[in-house]
Amino acid sequence: MSELKTIDREYIANTYARFPVELVSGKGSLVYDAEGREYIDMGSGIGVTAFGIADDAWKAAVTAQLEKLQHMSNLYYTEPCAMLAKLLCEKTGMKKVFFCNSGAEANEGAIKAARKYAAEKKGPEYFTIVTLVNSFHGRTLTTLAATGQDHYHELFQPLTPGFVHAPANDLEAVKAAALQNKAAAVMIECVQGEGGVIPMEKDFVTGLADFCRAQDILLLVDEVQTGNGRTGALYAYMNYGIRPDVVSTAKGLGGGLPLGAVLFGEKTEFTLGAGDHGSTFGGNPVCCAGALSVLSRIDDALLEGVRKKSAMVFDALRGAPGVESVTGMGLMIGIKTAKPAGDVVKACMENGVLCLTAKDKVRLLPALNIPEDLLMKAVDVIKGACV
Ligand SMILES: *Cc1c(COP(=O)(O)O)cnc(C)c1O
Repeated sequence: MSELKTIDREYIANTYARFPVELVSGKGSLVYDAEGREYIDMGSGIGVTAFGIADDAWKAAVTAQLEKLQHMSNLYYTEPCAMLAKLLCEKTGMKKVFFCNSGAEANEGAIKAARKYAAEKKGPEYFTIVTLVNSFHGRTLTTLAATGQDHYHELFQPLTPGFVHAPANDLEAVKAAALQNKAAAVMIECVQGEGGVIPMEKDFVTGLADFCRAQDILLLVDEVQTGNGRTGALYAYMNYGIRPDVVSTAKGLGGGLPLGAVLFGEKTEFTLGAGDHGSTFGGNPVCCAGALSVLSRIDDALLEGVRKKSAMVFDALRGAPGVESVTGMGLMIGIKTAKPAGDVVKACMENGVLCLTAKDKVRLLPALNIPEDLLMKAVDVIKGACV
C-alpha cells in the first residue's frame, strides 16, 4: 500500500483526497482491501454499482457483448444501444435518447437542447437556464456554471454565461428568475445529492412543472444521482407525478461502466438534429449491454425493496444518539451527525463500513439489492460511529 500510495501521489493529478485503503476486489455489497479486510459498501462507487460489485447478470451481459464487439462508434447501428433506448422510453414515456459517457455530459446535452428549443421557439435571447442554489450539475465549465454553489466557481472564471441560480423550494423566486431572465429552461435535482441529500418539496416541484408548462419554459430534471431506482422510483421525478421535458442520467445506469443518457420528451424529441450533437464513445455497446441488464431488473419488486430498506434505515437512525437529522429518499440518505461527518466516515471505515459524505452530512448510497441483514449491520456500525 505505501508503495502504491507513493506512485499514485507522484503520478495522479492532485484532484482527489483519497482514503488510505487500496480496494482490490468485491462481490455484491462486500469489498476487500489489499490486506484482505472486508468492508460493507454503503457508497457503491458514488451510486454507480446499482446491483453491487461483480453482479453475475451484469457481468454476463457485459462479457457476452465484449466477446462480440466492444466499440464501433455512432456511424453504425448496434443492438445494445437501440434496445436500451427503447427500454428507457418504454419505462418512462420519454420519446428519444441521446447516449454519452457521464453525468456532466448528459447535462451538457440537456442544456444544448434547451437552448436550441428556446431559440427556435421564442428567439435567441431566450438562452438562460435557471438552476437552484446548492445544486450540483457537474465539473465541465458549463455544468459548473449550472451548479449553484459559488465555491466551485471561483478559480475558473469566466464560466459559460447564461445561468442564474434561485433558491430551492422557493417557487416564487424561481418563477421570477425565469421570467426576468427570459429563461429557456429550469433545471433541478429532485433530491440535491452533493448539496447534502436534500429532497425538494412536493408543492415546489409540481408548481414548477405547472409554471414551466404554462410558460413553455423547459423543465430539465438532473437524475444523474437520483435516477435508475435510487430513490425508490425508477426516476425521482416519478415520486412527484410530474413529466419533465428533458431528463439527464448517468451514475447507476451503467452499473459500473461509464454511461450517460439524455431523455427527450414530446416537446424536445426532434430538437437536436443531425450534426447538432455527438459523442465518440456515447452508446458504447458494452456499456449499453450492462445498462440493459441493470434497467431491465429495476422492476416493481426491486423498487418496493428499495423503499422498504429505506424505511428500515430511517427508522434505525432517526433519533439515535449523535444523529441530528436524516434526510433523503429511497437508498439515497443523508445523516446530519453531531460529530463532523468526516470523523464518522473515518470511524465507519475503521470498523468495516464504507460511507460517503455530502457537505456536512454522512451520505449513504448502497447498492439497490443490498441484503437487509448486511444493510442493518452497516447501519449499526454507523450508529456506533455517531456517538
Ligand atoms: C454526479 C453528478 C453529476 C456529474 O456526473 P459525472 O458523471 O461526474 O460527470 C451531475 N449531476 C448530479 C446530480 C450528480 O450527482
